[in-house]
Amino acid sequence: MGEESDKRPTIDADECTGCGLCVDVCEHEVLDLTDDVCTIIDVEKCVGCGDCSEECPVEAITME
Ligand code: SF4
Ligand code: SF4
Repeated sequence: MGEESDKRPTIDADECTGCGLCVDVCEHEVLDLTDDVCTIIDVEKCVGCGDCSEECPVEAITME
């Protein structure tokens, strides 16, 4: 897992293909698919590790 940080993911819904890889890699149940698009369901649980961003094959997740 990447180092924890104050950064949080932003998802570009237009780029997301709904593959679900980010949902699977997140150990904190922050993300889920809604209508085949990645959605942040509980940002309070996010630790800013960036693993979701690293995993996304189309670079739809930006950490900022
Ligand atoms: S940054 Fe880490 S904790 Fe936050 S949503 Fe991505 S994988 Fe989950
Ligand atoms: S890994 Fe990227 S393309 Fe796949 S569901 Fe997550 S944001 Fe969408």
